[in-house]
Amino acid sequence: MSKNKRGKALWRMPSRSRGTCPICGSTRIKLLFTGKGISGEKIDVCKKCHGKQAVLTG
Ligand SMILES: [Zn+2]
Repeated sequence: MSKNKRGKALWRMPSRSRGTCPICGSTRIKLLFTGKGISGEKIDVCKKCHGKQAVLTG
């Protein structure tokens, strides 16, 4: 499927592809990119965090 990060395809997805980025904590942002979780697993992240890895905080 081409252009699956744009247009009405997003609106068919649960929560319309928006949520809270687990890395930078931005809310209601589009999570269309792939980053790494703390143990290296793939997670959905925002554009700013594309390719980044989550870090433990607290
Ligand atoms: Zn982010």
